[in-house]
Amino acid sequence: MLKGSCLCGGVVYHADGKVRDASHCYCTMCQKGHGAGAGSYVNVGNAGLTYERGAELVTEFASSEAGRRGFCRVCGSTLYWRSTREPDNIAIALGTLEPEYDGPVQRELYTDTKPAWLPKA
Ligand SMILES: [Zn+2]
Ligand SMILES: [Zn+2]
Repeated sequence: MLKGSCLCGGVVYHADGKVRDASHCYCTMCQKGHGAGAGSYVNVGNAGLTYERGAELVTEFASSEAGRRGFCRVCGSTLYWRSTREPDNIAIALGTLEPEYDGPVQRELYTDTKPAWLPKA
């Protein structure tokens, strides 16, 4: 089971679903949404998050027709990305996990817009 929280600690969640894979996404929406070089996510099945607290703080932004980005409305932490076309899957922001994610990151997405200022692998 994966557990995590936002920066202010107002939102605490866990996800019981099956971990599918993890990715670093360099699309420009992830860069803006995270204020960072990539959006790093782990995809989990069974639709999702159970909130131990702070469910009322989670707000969604529709960044595209089907894309929904969940964040804490107090501190702004990005918590997840989900597609309304794939209701069984949720992509949890890796940096919100506690303890730190220790699985593999299998994929890099939208490498054509990967920022040049990121450290080279
Ligand atoms: Zn917060
Ligand atoms: Zn992205």
